[in-house]
Amino acid sequence: MASKKNAPYWFQGQGIWSDLPEDYWNNWGWQLRNRITTLQQLESHMTLTEQERKGCQFANQKLALAITPYFFNLIDREDEDCPIRKQVIPRGDEMTVAPWESVDPLGEDSHLVVPGLVHRYPDRVLFLVTDRCAAYCRYCTRSRMVSNSQGYDFHPKIEEAFDYLESNKNIRDVLISGGDPLLLSDNKIDRLLGRLQQIEHIQFIRIGSRIPVFLPQRITPALCQILIKHEPVWMSIHVNHPRECTWELKEACGRLARAGVPLGNQSVLLKGVNDDIETMKDLVHRLLQMRVRPYYLYQLDSITGSSHFKVDIEKGIEIIRGLQGHTSGYAVPQYVIDAPKGGGKIPINPNYVERVSKDEIVLKNFEGKLFRYATETSPDCQQPDSFPAELFA
Ligand SMILES: *Cc1c(COP(=O)(O)O)cnc(C)c1O
Repeated sequence: MASKKNAPYWFQGQGIWSDLPEDYWNNWGWQLRNRITTLQQLESHMTLTEQERKGCQFANQKLALAITPYFFNLIDREDEDCPIRKQVIPRGDEMTVAPWESVDPLGEDSHLVVPGLVHRYPDRVLFLVTDRCAAYCRYCTRSRMVSNSQGYDFHPKIEEAFDYLESNKNIRDVLISGGDPLLLSDNKIDRLLGRLQQIEHIQFIRIGSRIPVFLPQRITPALCQILIKHEPVWMSIHVNHPRECTWELKEACGRLARAGVPLGNQSVLLKGVNDDIETMKDLVHRLLQMRVRPYYLYQLDSITGSSHFKVDIEKGIEIIRGLQGHTSGYAVPQYVIDAPKGGGKIPINPNYVERVSKDEIVLKNFEGKLFRYATETSPDCQQPDSFPAELFA
């Protein structure tokens, strides 16, 4: 049903690798081994702009270049402004550092309690289990460590992290991220989830991963069995543009959903990628059709060399205004800024409250019409002398 409704995006297929046996293509090991990681490989498939060529030469000192064949196929190679291309092909702009930018804008390193464990909110932690991803997003918030291009040498202390989690009884929620945790072997994922579930006070485990988008082949039946075994596990994926909503991604989400994994999506608001209402509306509608609930829309973190992606806050608010009330409530993500220095995620929603007084609140709806709602809670009601007799009949 959905495949017909949403042509032309759904079916991706093997594209420039169409001669490859299907078994290879569908094998996630093959996809990883055949990633595009050098300027030469990129140029053998497409013509780069001068900006991109410069970016590729510089990339390996900042954040590695890596694109899975599957995701590379989503690029429109004729279009210099392709929204997929911008997300994964480096540009010389990455060398430009704005004064407000830094390598660790969220102050994660100062909230590390154990290497790999970020404890910023009282009841939940961020558990970084690897520094590798299937492909690298050029606006990565953890580019200081991810791919190890800057020599961060990330070594999570998994056992120490378990000790910390065991002894901190107020932690009820563990968010496993990285890097991309689904790059770990099935065995490692199995043991990790198993260990976390043995800890009595941990109620909620979730995985943050872009693997379904970069490498849907990784969502194998065997992996799904592990997720079933440790249910409930929630997952946040990361889709930015409707063109990423392929048949392959939809199938991967279906496998996860059938394994009992509730799915959310986190998008980053990116200039020239998804910074208009039409694109975002198309995206959130496709997400719902893939059983994915839009969770967060992030304002770009102030990461070194990312200013070419930055979108005005006003624009972000306008996008949310264009969704709220105009489409299913389930389709509307929460627009947030992850506050610098570890302030946490703070919503920046459009304002629907015109004014509040002691007796009423004046609200503006999605059409711009005003509505009053009485806010009184202890009215001076008239008590009838006796209730109508029929009430007691
Ligand atoms: C995002 C984040 C969380 C989870 O936040 P939610 O709003 O609950 O999704 C937890 N810890 C850290 C350090 C985070 O960055």
